Amino acid sequence: MTDLLPNFVSGQWQNGKGAGTALYDPVLGTELVRVDAHGLDLAAAFAFARHQGGRALRSLSYAQRAAMLGAAAKVLQANRDAYYDISIANSGTVKNDTAVDVDGGIYTLGTYAKMGEGLGNVHYMLDGQPARLAKDPLFQSQHVLTPTRAVALFINAFNFPAWGLWEKAAPALLSGVPVIVKPATTTAWLTQRMVKDVVDAGIFPAGAISVICGSSAGLMDQLQPFDVVSFTGSAETAAVIRSHRAVTHLSVRVNIEADSVNCALLLPSEAADSQAIDLLAKEVAREMTVKSGQKCTAIRRVLVPEKLYDTAAQAISARLAKTTLGNPRNDTVRMGAVVNREQFDAVHTGLSHLKAQAAVLHDGRSHALVDADAAIACCVGPTLLGTRDAAGSDAADRIHDTEVFGPVATLVPYRNDDLDHALQLIGRGQGSLVASVYGTDPAALARASTELASCHGRVHVVSPDVASMHTGHGNVMPQSLHGGPGRAGGGEELGGLRALNFYHRRAALQASTAVLTQLEQHP
Ligand code: NAP
Repeated sequence: MTDLLPNFVSGQWQNGKGAGTALYDPVLGTELVRVDAHGLDLAAAFAFARHQGGRALRSLSYAQRAAMLGAAAKVLQANRDAYYDISIANSGTVKNDTAVDVDGGIYTLGTYAKMGEGLGNVHYMLDGQPARLAKDPLFQSQHVLTPTRAVALFINAFNFPAWGLWEKAAPALLSGVPVIVKPATTTAWLTQRMVKDVVDAGIFPAGAISVICGSSAGLMDQLQPFDVVSFTGSAETAAVIRSHRAVTHLSVRVNIEADSVNCALLLPSEAADSQAIDLLAKEVAREMTVKSGQKCTAIRRVLVPEKLYDTAAQAISARLAKTTLGNPRNDTVRMGAVVNREQFDAVHTGLSHLKAQAAVLHDGRSHALVDADAAIACCVGPTLLGTRDAAGSDAADRIHDTEVFGPVATLVPYRNDDLDHALQLIGRGQGSLVASVYGTDPAALARASTELASCHGRVHVVSPDVASMHTGHGNVMPQSLHGGPGRAGGGEELGGLRALNFYHRRAALQASTAVLTQLEQHP
C-alpha cells in the first residue's frame, strides 16, 4: 500500500482515520500516495489556527512577516527538485509547465516578501488621509485597515497545487492572518509537501499554516463571522460555497475564482501580413498547450476578422502541429497529460459538445503519443475548432459558454471592420479572467482594451514592440489583479498590495486630531 500523507492541524501532523483516497500518475497509471482527512478534530484545528496562529502573527509587524515569507521562499527554492518530481508524477506535466506552477508560486511568495518589507514595522495600515468632520479640523475621520482576527480557509483547484497555495497564502500571512489550505484531492501531494517543508523549517509561528488533504466535508461548517474563505474551482462548487450558511448568515467574506471562457482578439484594422497575426498565433498555441490547457486563464475563444480566418487558422494549426505529446519524462515531449481519467473524459465530452457547432481546424487525434500507452495515459492532443464565418459565430452558443478544461480553443470570426461585433461576441462569455488584444496601432489597442476592461479582470495587450518581453496572456503576475467579474466568479486576488484588503477590516476612526496623530505611521 502507498504512503498515507498526514495533515498538519493544531500544530501537529495527524493521519486521517480512513483508508485514504489514492493519488495517481496520469501518464503511467500507477498509484503514488494516499490522502485522508476523516476523523480530524476540525473544530480544534480551526480554533488553534484562529487563536494561537492569529495572535502570534498579529504580534509581528508587516516587515517581520515579510521576512518570514522571504525565508519560506528560500526553503522552497532549496527543495525545488522534489517539487518537480512530484509534479511530473502526479500532474503529468513537462518541466516548462511545472515551472509555471512551482516557480510561479515561489516567485509570488518572494514578490510579497519584497512588497511587505516596504510596509515597515507597523501593525495596521492607514487608508487614505484624515477627513475633517467638523468646521474646526480638530475632529476628523481616519480610515484604518487592521488584520482580520480570524482564519483564512483556502479551497483550491487541482491545476495549481503550488502556485494556488502561495498566491493565496502570501498576502494572507503578510496581513497577519493564519491559513488553512485544502488542496484539490487529485494533486494534493505537492501542496502537502510544500507546507511540510516550510513547517519543518520552523519559519512561521504555530498555527499560522495548516493543511488538510482529502474530503472537504465539514470545513465550511467551521467558519465563524470574521473568517474568510477563498475558493478556486468550478462554478458548480462555487455555488455550493456561496450558499453555505457561513456566507449567507454569518457574513463570512468569500472570494471566488471560477471558470472562465477567456478570449484573444485580433483588431479589425490588421492586414494579412501584420506581425500581430503571428503574435496571436504564437500566444494561442502556447495557451492551448501549456499545462495541457488546464489553466483557468487559458485562451478558449480566438476572435479574428472574417477575412483573416483562414490565415489565422493556418498560423495557429502550424504551431500546434509541432507539439509533441506524451510522457513528460521524455525530453522531446512538449505536452504531457491532463490530470486524471475524469478530466480526460470531460475534455472529450466537452469537445463533442463544441463540435456540434464548430468545424475541426486542427485535430488533436493527429498527435501520436511519445513514450506512453494510449490505453493508460491521459494525454489529449491540442484541437483547434472554428465557426467558419461571422454568422456561424452568432449562431453558435456553446462556444461562448463552455469551458473545456483542456487543450481546446475555437476560432471565432467576426464581421470585417466591425469591432463592436467582436466585442458583442466576447460579451457572450459573460465576463472572464483575462482577454488579450493583438494589433499594431497603439491608439486602437488602447481603445479596445478599455472597452474590454469592465468585463475582464485583466486585459493583456500584445503589440510588436513588446513581442519579446510581454508576460503572456495566461501568466498571472503578482503585480496584476487576478480574478474576473460575472462567470469568472467576481473575485479579486493579487494586484500587488491590493490583495491585502481581503484579509483586513476597514474601520473609520473618528477622533480628535491629537488622537489620530498617535497612530502608527508607515515609512
Ligand atoms: P472543483 O471540482 O470545483 O474543486 C475545487 C475544490 O473544491 C477542490 O479542492 C475540491 O475538493 C473542493 N470541493 C469540492 N466540493 C466541495 C464542497 N461541496 N465544499 C467545499 N469544497 C469542495 O474544481 P477543480 O476541478 O479542482 O478545478 C477546475 C476548475 O477550476 C476549472 O473550472 C477552472 O476554470 C477553475 N479554476 C479557476 C481558477 C481561477 O483562478 N479563476 C484557477 C484554477 C482553476 P476535492 O478535490 O476533494 O473534490
